[in-house]
Amino acid sequence: MVKDNNQEMNEKNTVEKVTLVTEALEIIKGFADGFATTFKHLFRKPFTEEYPEYKRPLPERARARIILTRDPDGGERCVACYLCSAVCPVSCISMQSAELKDGRRYAAWFRINFGRCIYCGLCEEACPTSAIQLTPDFEMCRREILSLVYEKKELLVDHGGKDKEYNFYQYAGVVTDVGDKGSHIQEEKPVNIKSNMP
Ligand code: SF4
Ligand code: SF4
Repeated sequence: MVKDNNQEMNEKNTVEKVTLVTEALEIIKGFADGFATTFKHLFRKPFTEEYPEYKRPLPERARARIILTRDPDGGERCVACYLCSAVCPVSCISMQSAELKDGRRYAAWFRINFGRCIYCGLCEEACPTSAIQLTPDFEMCRREILSLVYEKKELLVDHGGKDKEYNFYQYAGVVTDVGDKGSHIQEEKPVNIKSNMP
């Protein structure tokens, strides 16, 4: 049966009306939910935490003051690889690498400008040795902006932070009884980075 034009128009109008009513109901429900939440809070007892008298314990993973941690054997974890510095979106980490007699690298100096740091945690993510870590200590505001530039002696701590047992040098870069680096099955010889120098 072929529908005439009037019938088609009527059906189209009906569908449009139903859609409009549905949308209107959804909007009204949204407003009602919002007002209900506000109304509920009008009768709640106010709850105020007096800071600094009361300091709310923050989760261990809260991101604030940055530290440089040590291995369980007391050695500095930082191998001055510059990864944290490279990944930092505001370029607030700088350092100078140096080498011990046994070839182990360390940071001769290490500096973080907390006046620029946005506590994003990317440096911690990038660090291969778990050296750099963010802590929940957020009370480091100062009036003097230059005092927010922390040197290595202020960053280096005497513990392993969140990763107490990890020891990078027990897993990487060590010569084992089985053989030197690159001598294991299917392992490629290490790249001599100095051979790429001009
Ligand atoms: S937390 Fe983010 S901004 Fe701060 S030093 Fe690390 S990478 Fe840079
Ligand atoms: S803190 Fe970690 S990422 Fe940054 S230079 Fe040291 S070892 Fe590399």
